[in-house]
Amino acid sequence: GANTYDPDPLSHLHKGNFSGLTHPPRENATILMLVRNEEIEGALESMRSLEDRFNRDYHYDWTFLNDVPFTTEFKIATSAMASGKTQYGLIPVDDWNRPDWINDDKFTQCMKKMVEDNVIYGESISYRNMCRFNSGFFFRQELLKNYDYYFRVEPNVDYYCDFPYDPFKVLRERKAKYGFVISLYEYENTIPTLWDTVEDYIKEDNAKDVHMDENHIGFLTDKEKIGRYGPVTESHSNYNLCHFWSNFEVGDLNFFRSDRYIKFFNHLDQEGGFYYERWGDAPVHSIGLSLLLKQEEIIHFDEISYYHPPFNTCPTGNYARLDQRCSCDPDSEFNIDILVHSCLMRWWKNGSGKYFMKEG
Ligand code: GDP
Ligand code: MN
Repeated sequence: GANTYDPDPLSHLHKGNFSGLTHPPRENATILMLVRNEEIEGALESMRSLEDRFNRDYHYDWTFLNDVPFTTEFKIATSAMASGKTQYGLIPVDDWNRPDWINDDKFTQCMKKMVEDNVIYGESISYRNMCRFNSGFFFRQELLKNYDYYFRVEPNVDYYCDFPYDPFKVLRERKAKYGFVISLYEYENTIPTLWDTVEDYIKEDNAKDVHMDENHIGFLTDKEKIGRYGPVTESHSNYNLCHFWSNFEVGDLNFFRSDRYIKFFNHLDQEGGFYYERWGDAPVHSIGLSLLLKQEEIIHFDEISYYHPPFNTCPTGNYARLDQRCSCDPDSEFNIDILVHSCLMRWWKNGSGKYFMKEG
């Protein structure tokens, strides 16, 4: 039009009246993206895909978090892409920056060593902040206070099939706390002392939050390493490095907000490994979940097709792929489920398992 100038470009967004939208019964849940302003295109691509494959039927809210304020451009474009309400949160500096018990000199030294050793993201401070935030702080953000469930999304991911169900509903109906799609081996040189720290935590667990006979510890530990299934040749511990790939998560915020998870996180955090090493939120979540939950409280979403570079999943059943309008190839060389990088066979095998403590 001739005069389209709007002095308040956000005026019609994210305070709009969504009450007229119809949708199936919904859970108390939000889709969640931690993202940088400069990742806007990747964020929009992920949103477009998830909206098409799932959320256009539900209109769940989208929550965006950032360690710096979101730009107006980012808010306008993502609100236009969303079929539900949007909200934008600024992460408090204390939830993001390294805590004061981290020794700066030691940190600098450790980081230098990790760069020399070619540790992935070994040179990055912000990556460490991000991993610690995702391990211990995302679920405590003000904007998430009133939600029970979250669905983690990253920029530049893709969903190749229509969702055959609402994953939030699956969690609630099955009384589960967490669902994943991909499981991989961690790079061992990012977490040299993580498992020792976990074993200390288990030994000191006075509150008896850990129930060895009911939990998923068997999925994470092995008496003997089987080299073929992963880069586990010089392991320092009996942790087999398996973890849920946390760039996709559907989870119960109340679990992470619980005293027992916070206690577990604080124990790890005090050791400083988020900075002196480069502990990722994926192994931290996975170990916490596997120790503290019952086996049936963790779900593998077999029917959801997901892509985060460089791996994807794709349903193997021909009928399922047609029914869910899939655009993926299960025989692709990037389908993790048929690769040796996957921990899924261990997941199937070790529904229950014995826990092996390090000897000596
Ligand atoms: P990778 O998947 O392990 O390679 O790590 P990513 O670069 O994808 O980062 C993981 C998630 O954290 C993504 O959603 C990123 O957008 C987000 N992220 C990473 N670093 C930062 C940061 O410094 N600030 C913000 N706001 N988000 C970040
Ligand atoms: Mn990523």
